[in-house]
Amino acid sequence: MTGDNRLPSVTKRIDDESDAKQFQFTLYCDCCGMRFRNQPIPFSVASAPDRFEDFTLIQRMIWEAEHDDAYERANQHALITLFRCAVCGSAVCEDCATDYDTPVCPDCRN
Ligand SMILES: [Zn+2]
Ligand SMILES: [Zn+2]
Repeated sequence: MTGDNRLPSVTKRIDDESDAKQFQFTLYCDCCGMRFRNQPIPFSVASAPDRFEDFTLIQRMIWEAEHDDAYERANQHALITLFRCAVCGSAVCEDCATDYDTPVCPDCRN
């Protein structure tokens, strides 16, 4: 498992703030950098140790699988929250999109 087959993020920047207890991603508007923080999703194995280093192999495997799911969910959420610039395809927030039928990012309007 290398994670190389993971889908690219909807936004250019995505922060992975996941830890041993929960999965958390923050995405940023491609234009103004506005933060979109996803609801943290708790790791299902409540008895898992506090530190990832102390996980058993099985716990690690479950964590990896749930981490991938959480990543997908964060991106799905971004897809419905953000607008796609009709010109360059950037993912932008509603402030940057202005026209929601044909969103064009500020960079492309200039
Ligand atoms: Zn923006
Ligand atoms: Zn654009």
